[in-house]
Amino acid sequence: MARIGVFTCWCGENVARHVDIEKVTETVAQMPGVRCSINYKYMCSDPGQAQIRDKIQSERLTGLVVASCSPHMHLKTFRKAAQTAGLNPYLVEMANIREHCSWVHHNREEATAKALDLIRMSVEKVKRDHELVPIRVPLTRRALVIGGGVAGIQAALDIADAGHEVALVEREPSIGGKMAGLSETFPTLDCSQCILTPRMVEVGQHPNIKLYTYSEVESVEGYVGNFKITIRQKARYVDMVKCTGCGDCWNSCPIKKNLSEFDCGMGFRKAIYIPFPQAVPARPVIDRLACTRLKRGTGCGLCEKKCQAKAINFADEDKLVVEQAGAVIVATGYKLYNIAKEQDNAQLSGYGEYGYGKYKDVIDALQFERLVSASGPTGGEIKRPSDGKIPQSVVFIKCVGSRDNAKGLAYCSKICCMYTAKHTMLYKHKTPGGEAHVFYMDIRAGGKAYDEFVRRAIEQDGAKYYRGRVSKITEENGKLIVRGADTLAGAPVTIEADMVVLAVAMRPADGVHALAQKLNVGYDEFGFLSESHPKLRPVETNAAGVFICGACHAPKDIPEAVAQASAAAGKTLVMFGREELTREPEIARINEQTCAACYTCVRGCPYTAIERAETLTPKGVHVKYTARVNEGLCMGCGTCVALCPSKSAELEGFTEQQIYSMVESLMT
Ligand code: FAD
Ligand code: SF4
Ligand code: SF4
Ligand code: SF4
Repeated sequence: MARIGVFTCWCGENVARHVDIEKVTETVAQMPGVRCSINYKYMCSDPGQAQIRDKIQSERLTGLVVASCSPHMHLKTFRKAAQTAGLNPYLVEMANIREHCSWVHHNREEATAKALDLIRMSVEKVKRDHELVPIRVPLTRRALVIGGGVAGIQAALDIADAGHEVALVEREPSIGGKMAGLSETFPTLDCSQCILTPRMVEVGQHPNIKLYTYSEVESVEGYVGNFKITIRQKARYVDMVKCTGCGDCWNSCPIKKNLSEFDCGMGFRKAIYIPFPQAVPARPVIDRLACTRLKRGTGCGLCEKKCQAKAINFADEDKLVVEQAGAVIVATGYKLYNIAKEQDNAQLSGYGEYGYGKYKDVIDALQFERLVSASGPTGGEIKRPSDGKIPQSVVFIKCVGSRDNAKGLAYCSKICCMYTAKHTMLYKHKTPGGEAHVFYMDIRAGGKAYDEFVRRAIEQDGAKYYRGRVSKITEENGKLIVRGADTLAGAPVTIEADMVVLAVAMRPADGVHALAQKLNVGYDEFGFLSESHPKLRPVETNAAGVFICGACHAPKDIPEAVAQASAAAGKTLVMFGREELTREPEIARINEQTCAACYTCVRGCPYTAIERAETLTPKGVHVKYTARVNEGLCMGCGTCVALCPSKSAELEGFTEQQIYSMVESLMT
């Protein structure tokens, strides 16, 4: 005999404003099987939960329905309350009368009627719930971090310092990410490399960190606690063990091209190179598309001759390595919107009027960072790429690509207001008498000491800010003619500039979608990886055991990326600190007696969670072929249930009987 308790929450005014709580409570009390029906202002609060616990015990409830917000928000809270009072936590249902009702229907009568329908359905469902127990899965206390920028570095060090092994996979020849190429950093203007390189060295020398540079994740199998990751180590053509990093090879290489990725295409490097002097590992790599020997199969070979350690290996090939990990942290960062080239996104129609890619002295913000940096191609002197002269007037244009529904991306890139202020300061400090002009839409400088920083750029260092857009840039007699508007003065502005710097939008790194698909992680309409809950689970994803941090999630500055990385590491360590790993038991089950072994479910499961299995029949004679669910992999999506022609697949907690009873309760 069912003894169901229904607990209706006001959610302050969130529910109570549009739903008649008293009427709901009274009507629910009359529903068959309902033993008690009460309401409270905040059911999730301590006193609210105490009422639930008391009623479970005093009324000997066999199930409960909490009519309140989304189960995403508080199902765990109410399950815990039930468990504390001795009720199996899987005998708890939630009727979402907030998001599905009071937030979308403002006619009180209709909202109240719908709330009653939702509760009635939940009551019918909970009557048919069974006691379930969480699934235990083995746990590998080892982490994989993908991306070796500042976020990946921080996450790897936090986990390694806590005593666990970490494999760090970075696709470039060195770790460091974008921060390694920055000059000085807002809001303190401390040198980026001075802060970062000691951390990079720490990663390189840490006994608990295994570094895979020039590598990418090829495939991912397994599930939370037990991932098996295949890593492709790209051919480097240099034996990392024999190589001493002496530099004889790159000093002797005759190929020198304007290729340096680190200098954003503004500096030279050899065909055999280390990306920058502080690279970790400080070992070279041969660019197979630039090297004479590797392109033609014959010729040059000077590096091989000069290398006393005999480390050059032209026969090197890609290698596949397998790593086991219990948790994966994705920290693949960002790239800048290349307004001259990028056509991979239908939303982007470009900014041809700014002349990027056409005029040499129109550059993007990361290129400017390299010009200002002491380790950059000009040794830190700000010189025009076209003729090496010092620019006397620089125009900075913000929001290029960001906040532009018409031809760019709708979101704000969040950091460019700050780095543009920084750029004007660095330029003015290095170029006495130089003019810095900034075109902006808004100044967004929310952060500790951020607004003060922007004010300093304007009030102390004298950057001139114009609120308005630039409509066209042309080149005349070696000058860039920038035509725009100052909407505050209500006047057009024309500036003769020597250089233009574009604060272009931040976008997710190349290849992140393929990686997200391997990990079953979602991404938003702009391609940034999705968190599980924007407020309560900001570094978790919907794939159990996979965490995200840094700019792969959204545009971020360094402090935010580092904080998020430590949060992801913290979540990983919480998981590693558990005695055993448990998973929610609401997964699919196959009835092996009725399974016709057609394997439609095997083909249809998006998580490859169903395997073909062979079992002996009860008499032990014939082999019976069936489908079987891997408990570790199943995400409970229900695809197999919908696909199975013999109705042999069923989802725990969402049986056919339960769904039909809910539908029937609506009809009667
Ligand atoms: P990244 O630095 O992008 O690192 C990601 C790493 O992952 C890279 O090494 C990349 O090669 C690797 N990777 C990508 N895909 C894969 C893959 N599939 N497999 C393996 N590895 C992969 N912030 C500040 O706080 N102060 C400043 O002064 C400042 N100045 C800036 C100036 C400019 C012009 C710009 C554009 C940004 C600036 N920032 C500044 C922001 C700063 O660059 C970012 O906050 C920071 O770099 C984010 O770190 P990350 O590790 O998330 O990403
Ligand atoms: Fe440079 Fe290739 Fe010649 Fe080596 S063999 S020196 S990498 S061009
Ligand atoms: Fe524009 Fe500033 Fe947002 Fe960048 S941070 S997109 S410059 S408003
Ligand atoms: Fe695969 Fe989804 Fe079925 Fe689980 S419920 S076995 S994830 S199809």
